[in-house]
Amino acid sequence: MSTYEYDFFVIGAGSGGVRAARTAAALGARTGIAEARFFGGTCVNVGCIPKKLYTYAAHASHDFADSAAYGWHAASRPEFNWSLLKENKDREISRLNGIYKNLLSNAAVDIFEGHARLAGPNRVAIGDREISARHILVAVGGQSFMPPVPGIEHALDSDDFFELSEQPETVLIVGGGYIATELAGVFAGLGTQVTLAYRGDLLLNGFDQDIRSFFTDAIKSYTNLKLNSDIERITESKQKKQVLFSDGTRQTFDAVLYATGRVPATANLGLADNGVELSDVGAIIVDKDFETSTPGVYAVGDVIDRVTLTPVALAEGQALARRLFGGPKQVVSYDLIPAAVFSDPQIATVGMTEDEARSCHKQIDVYRSRFRPLKHTMTGRESYSLMKMLVDRASDRVVGIHMAGDDAAEIMQGMAVALQAGATKAQFDLTIGIHPTAAEEFVTMRTPVSD
Ligand code: FAD
Repeated sequence: MSTYEYDFFVIGAGSGGVRAARTAAALGARTGIAEARFFGGTCVNVGCIPKKLYTYAAHASHDFADSAAYGWHAASRPEFNWSLLKENKDREISRLNGIYKNLLSNAAVDIFEGHARLAGPNRVAIGDREISARHILVAVGGQSFMPPVPGIEHALDSDDFFELSEQPETVLIVGGGYIATELAGVFAGLGTQVTLAYRGDLLLNGFDQDIRSFFTDAIKSYTNLKLNSDIERITESKQKKQVLFSDGTRQTFDAVLYATGRVPATANLGLADNGVELSDVGAIIVDKDFETSTPGVYAVGDVIDRVTLTPVALAEGQALARRLFGGPKQVVSYDLIPAAVFSDPQIATVGMTEDEARSCHKQIDVYRSRFRPLKHTMTGRESYSLMKMLVDRASDRVVGIHMAGDDAAEIMQGMAVALQAGATKAQFDLTIGIHPTAAEEFVTMRTPVSD
């Protein structure tokens, strides 16, 4: 009989923590969880979900405009109400918070509301309460990285974006990754004038080069894009933000938003005092079983900084709980993780980029198709899609698929299943398309582009 109050105690009720706690409790473990801020974590409160809701709002502006070509006539110009959108979003998010809390209590997980920290071997302190647990999971996620630019206190981060009660007329977004580009699309779609400043010369670092070039071109149609650009200083006067750029130019904005990366949230957790080692970038170091350098203390999700996506945190949390409490064995594979950017246009990807494929395989065939989607042949909108498929010539295996365009994320999920199953190009060719769709392009690309 265990002498601990809990078999499993989780710090952080986000994607990874909630899944681990529920799985452990379902396997019979006496489980507790502590949450300092919001149930459901980043994804539900200030990440994937509210972000996607805002992208629907932004997209509606295109849909209104495009409907004219399909015979629709609006008696008056549609008007957008930022406060109403925020109110509706807040209502939906608090509904989800409640659902997450209920999921935990229905699973018989004890809930502690407050900041938790390690308080010695097998001990966790939550405020002035201390509990003992045989296994402790740290699933505290990450937070925005704000660089030490003079005046950075005048800038917002992505958490602040979701709290904005008024729509800025002009915004400067700093960054070139998925959060920066997604929020640029949202602001622009809703009518804010967007300037996007990025240090490099192509957005979306880490994605396939063709996709990066295509997207960097496309975004110019609705943002003022400042590439190879840095910010020297931000000052505030009469609620406006004055920005001095590294090229010496100055500009004034209603708001400045930094989306320059996220870092593991490891402060005030008692990690060092309890022997939990961190990497150079401040992530908790774990072994293949998610155990830290301190036996009995584990970590999953963004705080270990492997692949910082919700489905990965879920898989890691579930795999750990199953291993500890006797569920079916689950190995988290970090290969072939599909990902999407809900930008305008949308981007989605699975497998290797062309550069990665060329360094891994002797000969690669590249299939590429750029086209105007059927819908826009009528609307006249200068909107294009790009699809790309990479094939290892020796095995005929498809090793990477990339897309920019409408519904890219929805299309890519099925492509990821095909790649997991080891599909060859011949099998893609054998597959009958669904006509007329954009997705059928992936089964009809016949001729590789020349090397
Ligand atoms: P989190 O979900 O961050 O949960 C950690 C929890 O721990 C939080 O609730 C926090 O309050 C709590 N906590 C922290 N410290 C303590 C403490 N000491 N005591 C008690 N509780 C504590 N991923 C996708 O897959 N798709 C997307 O479209 C997507 N969009 C995103 C958009 C934005 C703007 C952001 C910021 C992120 C997005 N992500 C997306 C990433 C995704 O949100 C994270 O990968 C995921 O939430 C990580 O889960 P986690 O369990 O590691 O941490």
